Amino acid sequence: MKTELLAPTPEALSRAGEWLRAGEVVGFPTETVYGLGANALDAAAVEKIFAAKGRPGDNPLIVHICAAEELAPLIAAEPGPQARALMDAFWPGPLTLIFPKSEKVPARVTAGLDTVAVRMPSHPVARALIEAAGVPIAAPSANRSGRPSPTTAADVLEDMNGRVPLILDGGPCQVGVESTVVDLTGGVPRVLRPGGVTRAQIAAVASACEIDHAVLNPLGAGEKPRSPGMKYKHYAPQGEVTVFRGAHAVENILRRYDASQDALILCLENDLPRFGARRCLSLGPDAESMAARLFLALREADRMGAKTILCEAVEPVGVGLAVMNRLLRAAAFRVVDNEG
Ligand code: AMP
Ligand code: MG
Repeated sequence: MKTELLAPTPEALSRAGEWLRAGEVVGFPTETVYGLGANALDAAAVEKIFAAKGRPGDNPLIVHICAAEELAPLIAAEPGPQARALMDAFWPGPLTLIFPKSEKVPARVTAGLDTVAVRMPSHPVARALIEAAGVPIAAPSANRSGRPSPTTAADVLEDMNGRVPLILDGGPCQVGVESTVVDLTGGVPRVLRPGGVTRAQIAAVASACEIDHAVLNPLGAGEKPRSPGMKYKHYAPQGEVTVFRGAHAVENILRRYDASQDALILCLENDLPRFGARRCLSLGPDAESMAARLFLALREADRMGAKTILCEAVEPVGVGLAVMNRLLRAAAFRVVDNEG
């Protein structure tokens, strides 16, 4: 299959809408990361997403809508007051909510679960595409399964060339990490996957917000994750990633850095001078910039042939929680801690 990379002109969007209605898969930008979309109501089309990504069949997809009235047909009951308050506050935007699913949503989309994850993206190209398709779009991140998520169209092409007919190029993604996934079925909103909408923002609207244990911790043997995606190795480059936490992170990175191991340091902008002539990539000045650059940096590390990747941690608060959730998985929870 030949893969076309197109600017999101009205003609390209209408072509992409036709592909989607015809049961094909299209790569497209959102404010979080690039997605790989298919008609969410067409099980055969959704199957092609799993094939293109090499995604395990028990990892459910998020359904993307562009207008409030598209929610009702997907869910089994009216949203409760908490869900409505969160939708009013954060839709369109990087917040995914989990609802009991309707019959209309194929089991393939939800990996057999009786709940469905729904989000309304804010990116104008994502919204225009959903509108052009005229159907809700099931879309995971547009990477090959296990790889860092794509935040540019070039990253999508790197993973999906020859696997999808069309990728829309909307430039680099603003947020850079996937949406915040919130489960409302237990009473208190619970973050299953942190993202651009923070715990504090959710708590301000819903009066409370819990963080699932699996967000920052590996699953115990036999433990069943509430978000099936949490159990897989994720976001990982070829090189071995180690995360350095605590007050002596920089000293510990310097101690571990070994040029003969094709090492690469990922660090905060302020710490760059402390690493001298060693090979470094800056993740910018704060957690927001780290979120926007992390996946890009992990892919760049592969292109540079880095075998060991030494990465500074960030405080797991605000968007920093999403950064640490991705980073710990990219590192398969290899962490050097040193508080003192
Ligand atoms: P991705 O499509 O790569 O952004 O991943 C989607 C994430 O949402 C995965 O971690 C899934 O486990 C999670 N997810 C999707 N649907 C559900 C659901 N019904 N219940 C719990 N988690 C879900
Ligand atoms: Mg993904």
